[in-house]
Amino acid sequence: MMKRNVKYIFVTGGVSSSLGKGIISASLAKLLQGRGFSVTIQKLDPYINIDPGTLNPYEHGECYVTDDGAETDLDLGHYERFSNSPTSQANNVTTGRIYQNVISKERKGEYLGTTVQVVPHITDEIKRSVKILGKTDNYDFVITEIGGTVGDIESFPFIETVRQMKWELGNDCAVIHLTLVPFLRAAGELKTKPTQHSVKTMLEQGVQPDIIVCRTEHHLNEGIKRKIAQFCNVSPTSVIESIDAETIYDVPLLMREEKLDIEVLKVTNTAIPDNFDLSNWERFVHVLKNPKGEVKIGLIGKYVELKDAYKSINEALVHGGTENEYKVNTISIQSDHINASNVAEKLSGLDGILVAPGFGGRGIEGKIDAIKFARENNIPFLGICLGMQCAAIEFSRNVLGLTDAHTTEINNKTTHPVINLMEEQKNVTNLGGSMRLGLYDCHIDKDSKTYKEYNKQDIQERHRHRYEFNNEYREKFVENGMQLAGINKDKDLVEIIELKDHPWFIGVQFHPEYKSTVKVPHPLFTGFVRAAIEHMNS
Ligand code: GLN
Repeated sequence: MMKRNVKYIFVTGGVSSSLGKGIISASLAKLLQGRGFSVTIQKLDPYINIDPGTLNPYEHGECYVTDDGAETDLDLGHYERFSNSPTSQANNVTTGRIYQNVISKERKGEYLGTTVQVVPHITDEIKRSVKILGKTDNYDFVITEIGGTVGDIESFPFIETVRQMKWELGNDCAVIHLTLVPFLRAAGELKTKPTQHSVKTMLEQGVQPDIIVCRTEHHLNEGIKRKIAQFCNVSPTSVIESIDAETIYDVPLLMREEKLDIEVLKVTNTAIPDNFDLSNWERFVHVLKNPKGEVKIGLIGKYVELKDAYKSINEALVHGGTENEYKVNTISIQSDHINASNVAEKLSGLDGILVAPGFGGRGIEGKIDAIKFARENNIPFLGICLGMQCAAIEFSRNVLGLTDAHTTEINNKTTHPVINLMEEQKNVTNLGGSMRLGLYDCHIDKDSKTYKEYNKQDIQERHRHRYEFNNEYREKFVENGMQLAGINKDKDLVEIIELKDHPWFIGVQFHPEYKSTVKVPHPLFTGFVRAAIEHMNS
């Protein structure tokens, strides 16, 4: 077989952060896939943490987990949701990991006595991390998003690597620079100067962008595009407008209209294939925008005020809603504002209750009160990770009568540790990368509601936790109507619990939200939303 001629596309950002490099990268991947190319997307993060696993959601939003158990940036979630192809540890590399690799090689003597420097040793290691994806021979395009904004001290070695790769690879490498074109209301004008300056900053570092994507609140006219083209040394067709969209799922379609994919194919000297199929995506967006109705789901967590803390859950609910042709109206409720006396009022009018994952004690009693309310009032309930653990605690306290039941994460003196540390976790002292992470098998009981959703018995789901259901309580749970519907046979661990005597009450130790994509919405989210619609109509 002939080896693929891999094209490397870098996506950099200028002027401001939060312009949506991740969505632009994912949208480009979607368009190239629509033309029949195979694509992977990678994120290089210029911070020193080895991975975002130890960052709290205030710092960095959700931590996304891949099949191979990498704790990664939330942009990888967008990549998977858009492209429907799994990412891995190789798809997210930080400055910390680059230095860790270089320093460990230095300690092994691999640099043969030379002075180890940012150029070439750090830049070589960055290059290796990018090319490793191309070497798999699985992809026609490797899209590499560089976190941060050009001009940041931290991103220098990354931009220098881009300069070297462009020089080495010629037309097999292209740079897309995403900038902001602000609208000054007082002047009634769109302003191109910040874009000019940001391209100049790149030029000072030796990189000429090939395509400039302009984030804007107003349409760019031909005059503005020509001006940007002229001052930034690109052809006018390479100035792409990226106007604010109603939903992120519109962006691939907007980028298709702007011909972003065609520009990429042109600058990389790639023949433009005739066929282009994006019909599944178009159908999804059509249903998303024309729902039959709306259903209200409460998302209970301790970080709900942060937009990005439960990104994958929010998106999985959108996918599940669209699969049912309904709009999900997600109502975020702060768990530490809930207590036994206000729970009915706080959760009134909800057709489904989702209790989120989490760490630590804040808000846990509110989560438990919310679960009791869902259980007693037959409201569809989905508990994820800590949410499932709280469901086990609630059941122990209020059905089994074990009044001080708890997880030892929060109370290690409880007489009923229904959620407990796994033996192999007891001696772990490092916080980073030391949880039960990534894909594990789960065997589902055929006679269960969960089975009806998955329609198969053997599944694999992604995990991120230290604590587990305590097997000493299995019998009591089953005798009293809590079915242990999914088990990991290798380690004999309870992965799924569900109430027998309830329309839809499921708790899962894993994170189904990480595997939900536009193409394949997750069956548990689809089922949960369907149950909520049924509840609403009953
Ligand atoms: N804190 C719990 C544990 O470590 C749950 C983690 C989670 O919800 N992701 O087991």
